[in-house]
Amino acid sequence: MIVEVIVDVAAYPIDRPFDYIVPQRLETLVERGSRVHVPFGPRKVQGFITNIKEETDLDKSKLKEVHSLMDVEPVVTEELLQLSKWLTNKTLCYEIDALQVMLPAALRASYKKNIKLIDSSALEEDFLALFGKKDIVSYEVIEKAGLLRAMKKYLTDGAVQLETVIKQHAKAKTIVKYKVTADREFLVEQLNSLTKQAVKQKELIEWLLQQEQTTFTMQQLIERANASNSTVKALIEKGILEKEKEEVYREISSLEYHDKDQRFQLTEEQTNALTDINHAQEHAENTTFLLHGITGSGKTEIYLNAIENSILKGKQAIMLVPEISLTPQMTRRFKLRFGDQVAVMHSGLSTGEKYDEWRKIWRGEVKVVVGARSAIFAPFKDLGIIILDEEHESTYKQEDNPRYHARDVAIWRSEFHQCPVILGSATPSLESYARASKGVYSLLTLNMRAKEQALPTVNVVDMRAELKNGNRSMFSVDLADAVREKLDKKEQIVLFLNKRGFSSFVLCRDCGTVVECKQCDISLTYHRAGEQLKCHYCGYEEPVPTTCPECSSEHIRFFGTGTQKVEEEIAKLFPYARVLRMDVDTTRTKGAHERILKQFGDGGADILLGTQMIAKGLDFPNITLVGVLNADTTLHLADFRAAEKTFQLMTQVSGRAGRHDKEGQVYIQTYTPEHYAIELSKSQLYEPFYHTEMLTRKQYGYPPFYFLTLVQVTHEDVMLASEYAKLATDWLRANLSSTTMVVGPTASAISKIQNRYRYQCLIKYKKEPLLIEKLQQLIKIYRTEWIKKGVILTIDLDPSTIL
Ligand code: ADP
Ligand code: ZN
Ligand code: ZN
Repeated sequence: MIVEVIVDVAAYPIDRPFDYIVPQRLETLVERGSRVHVPFGPRKVQGFITNIKEETDLDKSKLKEVHSLMDVEPVVTEELLQLSKWLTNKTLCYEIDALQVMLPAALRASYKKNIKLIDSSALEEDFLALFGKKDIVSYEVIEKAGLLRAMKKYLTDGAVQLETVIKQHAKAKTIVKYKVTADREFLVEQLNSLTKQAVKQKELIEWLLQQEQTTFTMQQLIERANASNSTVKALIEKGILEKEKEEVYREISSLEYHDKDQRFQLTEEQTNALTDINHAQEHAENTTFLLHGITGSGKTEIYLNAIENSILKGKQAIMLVPEISLTPQMTRRFKLRFGDQVAVMHSGLSTGEKYDEWRKIWRGEVKVVVGARSAIFAPFKDLGIIILDEEHESTYKQEDNPRYHARDVAIWRSEFHQCPVILGSATPSLESYARASKGVYSLLTLNMRAKEQALPTVNVVDMRAELKNGNRSMFSVDLADAVREKLDKKEQIVLFLNKRGFSSFVLCRDCGTVVECKQCDISLTYHRAGEQLKCHYCGYEEPVPTTCPECSSEHIRFFGTGTQKVEEEIAKLFPYARVLRMDVDTTRTKGAHERILKQFGDGGADILLGTQMIAKGLDFPNITLVGVLNADTTLHLADFRAAEKTFQLMTQVSGRAGRHDKEGQVYIQTYTPEHYAIELSKSQLYEPFYHTEMLTRKQYGYPPFYFLTLVQVTHEDVMLASEYAKLATDWLRANLSSTTMVVGPTASAISKIQNRYRYQCLIKYKKEPLLIEKLQQLIKIYRTEWIKKGVILTIDLDPSTIL
């Protein structure tokens, strides 16, 4: 018997299955989708069985044997095996990467390098000392001791040998239990033969005889039977009790809440939407629904109902939310409705906890998974519905190999399972809305808030005017007054600082002008080195101006503020306010998010100050004021999605206010109040925004009118980076269709990451039948030639950002 194995080596000539002989002892055990250890060159590596066959075209005598089988049952289902093939082609990754991404980290192998002692007489004393009494020492120990150079020499001389060992991550957690293995007769017999002194043992046997249960933990025996460690041991020796290990799931600790599940009479709009979804579930139609509903319109309630439906049919459901660990409130709603049938998967869990949740899904012990992006690979076998909440969120796209979008995977799986997909959002991505307009997706609309609360009143504050009036603070007079008023009323306030890490632009504080590229309609990016402004689309650059090109003001400078600075200012302006800050710094520890949110929800603070991470999911009745300190930041990102992202963010943030009985107020501070993204987010006017933005996209040739592929080249040497970027660009230009545009090469907006210079080119096309084939050829050139020069080439089909 022969198996085809995809080995855990991501390298070009190896990106295909290899044949191995199955030793007889494993013949009845091997299955497609199981992991194996196989010899590969001098090493042993992990791999996945993707096929089983009797014959091979290769010379059988040269084939190696499978070393061991790691799973008695496959870890990758037949469906996911097929999906991995599709993913490999769709994202141009190695097949092994596509397989690994579908599994929890605990099942991915990592390798440990060891150095084995061969000839001790050849070694210097300090090196030999590292081994102690053993003949193996880990690579890290040698590295720490600063003896890598010596090791290299010994390796060549053959005095030591390098060994790679596969290391497994988390294991199933087990607890020890004690089981009564003997029958009653034996117990009674033992009881009678005990000496008078053995009081404790007598008591324990008598107690055991009275129990129906046969398995106990030590704690139970101690607490309930008043036994001791040594008594239990004595009974084990007598053959009455036996020690055994039982697998248990790790308890995911959670804070204590006192809320209950609420069921509502659905609104008319909700009912209509559900009717369509039910129909698709009923008739096993793989319709993709775009559920467009304003904030607070009751989308989540629809999700809950659709999932319930699917459970009633004996099927399972995947519920994706962006960065779930950030919205414990959302998870709670699902746990309250479905209880133990819910598995949760997000980055806040430990490797072991994730493994446990994954096994519950795999074994069919749960019916729903609520999770972040990677939960889309949950190994359910009979899916009834797949839902992506906030479908426009860029976190659904993985920015690393394989560069997949969860939405694409969802649609693939829905075809496989013949079940519907729901994409939900108050502010759908332009791509999805365009597809819905064309009838590719089926559009469901919710125009009313579920509880019929009014949308909050939104005031846009012109910060240029504030400056003119001599107010240099981050708070406009109006916002500061509003904060004071709410503090007096003991209502809660959310302050949002719009912040996007590295990217910065130059802004005139008098007239709001942002310096842009004349050819690309994209803000120029500020580069501190050389005080330059650069366009990373076309390569145009100019020095940072000292006066505004529009109004000649000298108040022109690069823009960016941190939350800490805002916190200091709050302390000055509102000294009595209790402030909670939520940003990357305050949420580093496990569970910090949830703790901060809970503290705020419990009324532990007056003001919650935070970045993007507070924009979503917050649903507290006492929040009546939301202030956006700087709406412009995302607006001037050097990205064609800047306006879209700003509109989405403003709508989301405003949606946090007045969700319950009390009316909400929102203040948006900006230097460009007239921009349509800000103007239209005031009343959550999605459609007008969509149409305006589509005009810009059409004019400049961006999605959804054109598809994009981003090709990036990095190198430690700036000259080589730009040289190979040019090679790649020229090659693509020469090989792709003439209607396809290849723009570049140009320096990336983030021109250097981890000491590697970054250059890029952008492929824009409407139809390019050659695309995948040509990109594969380019990758082949890269993997066979360029890679040796230290170049790294990455290709992102449908990038979510092009920084
Ligand atoms: P969305 O997900 O669209 O922002 P939610 O599902 O969170 O909206 O609903 C907003 C609020 O309205 C929640 O507090 C929810 O409990 C409530 N709600 C949802 N559906 C109904 C309904 N049919 N009747 C009354 N309240 C509802
Ligand atoms: Zn440009
Ligand atoms: Zn100006």
